[in-house]
Amino acid sequence: MKKDDALRESGVGTRLVAAGRRPEWTGTADQPGSVVNPAVWRASTHLYDSVAALKEGGKTNADGRFYYGRRGAPTQWALSEALTELEPGAAGTLLYPSGVAAIAGALLALVKPGDHVLMADNVYEPSRNIGQGLLANFGVTTEFFDPLDRDGFAARFTPNTRAVLLEAPGSLTMEVPDIPAFAAITREKGAVSLIDNTWASPLGFPALERGCDIAIMSLTKHVGGHSDLMMGSVAAGDALYRRLRRTHQQLGQVVSPDDAALALRGLRTLQVRLARGAASALEIAGWLATRPEVSQVLCPMLPGAPGYETWARTFTGGCGLFSFLFRNADEAAQNRFVDALELFGIGYSWGGFESLVVPLNPAGCRSATSWPPEGANPADCFGVRLAIGLEDPADLIADLERAFARMRG
Ligand SMILES: *Cc1c(COP(=O)(O)O)cnc(C)c1O
Repeated sequence: MKKDDALRESGVGTRLVAAGRRPEWTGTADQPGSVVNPAVWRASTHLYDSVAALKEGGKTNADGRFYYGRRGAPTQWALSEALTELEPGAAGTLLYPSGVAAIAGALLALVKPGDHVLMADNVYEPSRNIGQGLLANFGVTTEFFDPLDRDGFAARFTPNTRAVLLEAPGSLTMEVPDIPAFAAITREKGAVSLIDNTWASPLGFPALERGCDIAIMSLTKHVGGHSDLMMGSVAAGDALYRRLRRTHQQLGQVVSPDDAALALRGLRTLQVRLARGAASALEIAGWLATRPEVSQVLCPMLPGAPGYETWARTFTGGCGLFSFLFRNADEAAQNRFVDALELFGIGYSWGGFESLVVPLNPAGCRSATSWPPEGANPADCFGVRLAIGLEDPADLIADLERAFARMRG
């Protein structure tokens, strides 16, 4: 068995350690594989031996070939290859300078004027803005659907529906659509399904294996893992990968080799960080569920919480990001709680080593569903989103307990 084949069949921890470390990227021509990590190749110009080689170079447009800086060099190639190793069913992975650039780049590869796009109502707000702004400007219509209404989904397609953007769980309100079912219906209808898989990563949800056509991640979150870089990725099977790659090249997308090296470093510890974040989140979510100040814990990994059944049936893992709602609160109480926390930084983003909190205000980014949900008491629908980092969960619980006390004023 070749080394590559052995790697593909090994466990995810083994693949995370070995992926992308080709001997020719981790050493010199006469001493291949001599260091652990690929070097940081700062390269705009690539050089040719002769005019003949220059002409020949333009003809092949393959991954892993020197050509010109926009096509990357071994640092970026190693990261792409490592991400492809982690995504069963992927033929390749494209890198973008942010998660939002990845979502926009993928959608632009799929649509033309007159086309129709469906987006789940729980998608990340900037994804919604791509639909209502960029795509609308190009004559593409975007409509939103209830991510929990599986039975009504097929009726939302038009003859021009080309793409469906899914996200699970929704990164604010944490509902878990049945992604394999939505992906299967999308395929039956002849459209392409894309999933924003930033929450679970392929470790917790191997999206292509579960029937999605395109898997997108903001590498800014778990893969970077240290709150010091921005990047996005798009992985797909062969035919779609080639189509996405053409648009990626036409948009001139490229990531810096320094950031690629940082993302590769983060990737090596992804499994242990996700497991620790998920375990701490579950412990904290379980504690929150016992608190009188809490009306609902929105953590699909917690038995009994909304989305748990679908999550348990379709996912193999989770992470440290979840939300909860206060009982009988208002916006001022919500904000007092957030301001009272000492170990949680107030900030967007998540997936770093440090815990973060933001107030939960999803009302402005819903159109097919409503917030507060129909029939719910609005006073029970203020809340926060927590990103649980690598601190000791007992300390985070003590911080939350202090904040509940201060919230009462
Ligand atoms: C942060 C985030 C993105 C965008 O990623 P950036 O790298 O910040 O552009 C996309 N989707 C989800 C679910 C996110 O949380």
